[in-house]
Amino acid sequence: MPVYYVNKNIKLNGEHEVHTGLCPYFPIEINRHLLGDFRSCEQALNVAGEIYSLVNGCYWCCRDCHRSKNIPKKETYNLENSS
Ligand SMILES: [Zn+2]
Repeated sequence: MPVYYVNKNIKLNGEHEVHTGLCPYFPIEINRHLLGDFRSCEQALNVAGEIYSLVNGCYWCCRDCHRSKNIPKKETYNLENSS
């Protein structure tokens, strides 16, 4: 069973991301909160949801639990502006 962590840092969309210990985007030690071993990311998300109100599975390591429909594109806003 993989070990799951939740990122203490909030994303621009207000969510805390849940990762496994094997993720390439695994948060650094100071930014991660250990959730424990779970059979599925869904269980990890439930536990993370008791700590933070808005949680989401990482696209790369928890794709089954990644919900993208509510994610605004704020992160790309300041790349270029055609005004
Ligand atoms: Zn991840």
